[in-house]
Amino acid sequence: MAASSSSAATAKQSDHSSPSEETEEESEFCPGFKDVDAFVKHGLGAVVSATKASAALPAAGDEFDLYRSFPAFQQFCASQGDRLLHCMTQIMQHHGCRSHMRDRNRLTGLEDRFDLVVDSNDAILEKVGILLDEASGVSRTQQPVMPAGYQPPKIVVSSWNRRVSFSGGERRDETFHLLHAKNIQRPQLKFKEKVDNSNTPFVSKIFIKPNAVKPLPSYSKLLPNERPEDLDVPAALADFIHQQRTQEHVDDMFSHPYQYELDHLVMPESLKCKPDVQMYKPLAESTCQFIYTLDDLVALNEKLAKVSEFAVDLEHHSYRSFLGITCLMQISTREEDFIIDTLELRSEMYILNETFTDPAIVKVFHGADSDIEWLQKDFGLYVVSMFDTHHAARCLNLGRNSLDHLLKVYCSVNSDKRYQLADWRIRPLPDQMLKYAQADTHYLLYVYDRVRADLYDMGNGQPTLIQQVWDKSRDLSLKKYVKPIFTEDSYMELYRKQKKSFNTQQLAAFRLLYAWRDKLGREEDESTGYILPNHMMMKIAEELPKEPQGIIACCNPTPPLVRQQINELHQLIKQARETPLLKVCTILFGPHDTSRSSESDFLDLSSFETPTKPGVLFSEEEDESVNQEGKSLHGLIASAKISLFAVGHLKRNSEKPVCVSLWFSMFRCIRMYCKYLPSKDIHISKNAKYDPSSKIYEIHNRWKLQSIAQQQKEAQEKQQAKEQAKKAQEERKKAKLSYQESLQNVHTVRQQVAEAKQAGQKRERAASDAGEESIKPKMKVSKTESETSKKAQDSQFDPNRQAHGPKQKKKGQKKNAVGGRSMSYVPAKSDRGFRHNWPKR
Ligand code: AMP
Ligand code: MN
Ligand code: ZN
Repeated sequence: MAASSSSAATAKQSDHSSPSEETEEESEFCPGFKDVDAFVKHGLGAVVSATKASAALPAAGDEFDLYRSFPAFQQFCASQGDRLLHCMTQIMQHHGCRSHMRDRNRLTGLEDRFDLVVDSNDAILEKVGILLDEASGVSRTQQPVMPAGYQPPKIVVSSWNRRVSFSGGERRDETFHLLHAKNIQRPQLKFKEKVDNSNTPFVSKIFIKPNAVKPLPSYSKLLPNERPEDLDVPAALADFIHQQRTQEHVDDMFSHPYQYELDHLVMPESLKCKPDVQMYKPLAESTCQFIYTLDDLVALNEKLAKVSEFAVDLEHHSYRSFLGITCLMQISTREEDFIIDTLELRSEMYILNETFTDPAIVKVFHGADSDIEWLQKDFGLYVVSMFDTHHAARCLNLGRNSLDHLLKVYCSVNSDKRYQLADWRIRPLPDQMLKYAQADTHYLLYVYDRVRADLYDMGNGQPTLIQQVWDKSRDLSLKKYVKPIFTEDSYMELYRKQKKSFNTQQLAAFRLLYAWRDKLGREEDESTGYILPNHMMMKIAEELPKEPQGIIACCNPTPPLVRQQINELHQLIKQARETPLLKVCTILFGPHDTSRSSESDFLDLSSFETPTKPGVLFSEEEDESVNQEGKSLHGLIASAKISLFAVGHLKRNSEKPVCVSLWFSMFRCIRMYCKYLPSKDIHISKNAKYDPSSKIYEIHNRWKLQSIAQQQKEAQEKQQAKEQAKKAQEERKKAKLSYQESLQNVHTVRQQVAEAKQAGQKRERAASDAGEESIKPKMKVSKTESETSKKAQDSQFDPNRQAHGPKQKKKGQKKNAVGGRSMSYVPAKSDRGFRHNWPKR
């Protein structure tokens, strides 16, 4: 940065002198530059020199440590560091971002500062993206910028790229220029299977499972009418079996299709010894086949089936789509490179599962976290037998773990990651982008050899470290794609991230805008960042503009859909303004607090409340001790909820594995409670809704139907249970009364005996002889009398209750309550009211 600012300054000065002399009277774009191109050219040049300069700095680890032992170097670093932080703070402040980068006294760790930079970058890049859109055709004054539904292909998305030429693996820089990706047709329009943006959990797209050890479960058995087991077993048992099976199927629906295979995966023997390193071919001499037909894809798959390893990478686009689109897949074998047009072959990509899940073929990725998710999301592809060179780099402590660093270390190739963020939807792909994509996998098998050799050496001639990387990679393959789910609480996470303090009206506006943006994003298949960038949403919520024009003023440049829906937005802000005004919305940590775990964002805890209620039924209107049992049960459930979400609090630094386990728990919850989710929460994308071929459509409808039937059934069940409870209580009251009555009877008998005794004593005193003998038989009589009377009274009791004394009875009830409680989840899922089929005891 320091280098960039100084070089920028000098470049600017030199630039300044020449053009101004030539065109003195002409108006300049800005001081020193005659037009935008000149300015941009200079800007890009400055950025490139800055990047180069920073790359030339001594690397963290050995080099840096050596330099740091010199005080002069230390001093220089400190002063330059301060300068840098100052620059960054100024830039951040200029863009209205929060900045306390230089404040060393604050208790802000490196991580927090890094978050600050990332947030600011996001805000600035969002602005840049929108400005570029505007500059390249999406004019602010254009009338209907975006028609309802999908836009025509005239929408222009800009993408700037640098022209680079590769020669023999070495890169030569040429001039810089802006590459406008004009006339990009929305690829979604051509997809055979429409994108499913519905607010429902992701269901795997896989329908054929090659290399299966455990066959793919059939989801069709989920149909509620199918219940073959009730033919030859008692109804209650049939229900129970059906329940178990249904649950298994729902489990299957959300489980990883290759879970079993991955759980039982063993590392191939060939990885256990030191590899022979096989040199890559020079990039320029390698053939790269562009694959965009099914025939070619099939041929590629056959080729891949014959090799023992190949490298894979993906390019993805996420700005003009809600869930993102995988645009390209690069594959390299030892001999050849391939680039697959995954926009064209999206629906056919699944055939690659044959090689991708073949445990005998190692798939080499670099940083596969996202790739694994994208493969599932877009193609239903899974990976069995993966080696991630990113994890190898981490294990080797290479300092930096990026692919460019590995290429530099092992291949002496200066790769240029500039195209990483290019718009990969562009077709036909410019040569430079194709070359870039090819380079992403071209060297990877060689890197794979080299890192394995290093891991082997580092492990003192043992494959332990290779095994470690293998295990990490296997865990990565087990990752499941999780669709972003909108809940009533989702907005709070973003709100907390912004660390602003909103009053109730502002927060209400923020909540409404967030929901509007999510809904529209799903419907129009646009990213939320495209619909309304975060910083603009914050600004509107903060300012609560009274007029539509005020909303427009908060967004510079105005996103097309904001302009189009300005009246709706105006109404939302109006609604927010009607919220009672309280000063500051303090955020308290509690079960609803999601500030530390983004995953918790996806489920609304309030929707969990309903199903806990049936448990209360059994303790309702009971005596105090039972009530306490009920309460403690509630406490239990509440704490379970918190602990589920608290996982994120505990393990913030390892969010990804947490994500997997958390989502596993969540899916269990979704599975249990999806029927309770209020239907208003589910808005489904138009496409998915009307496309009956979509799996989610089918499932969603089934759930929806079930949930209505379920609600009615449940209401009935509740009513019945309540009535039963009432009846039982009345019976108990009756029994209590008659018992008391009988006790009174017993009392009178005793009294009689006592009276008789007294009379006897009197008589005794009178007769003076044989007193005891005469009383004893009378006592016996009274005892038998009391027994018979108690038996008579007992016969009025419920036989269920008879067996227990008062203490036992309590225990029995507790057992019932617990049983009823835990069971209440299960029958609640059954649409056949199965709770009542169970024998009463
Ligand atoms: P790569 O594995 O480096 O080829 O990156 C694959 C895809 O990840 C790219 O096509 C981008 O969509 C996305 N990507 C990579 N790096 C970034 C980044 N720094 N920010 C946002 N997206 C990125
Ligand atoms: Mn990648
Ligand atoms: Zn890539």
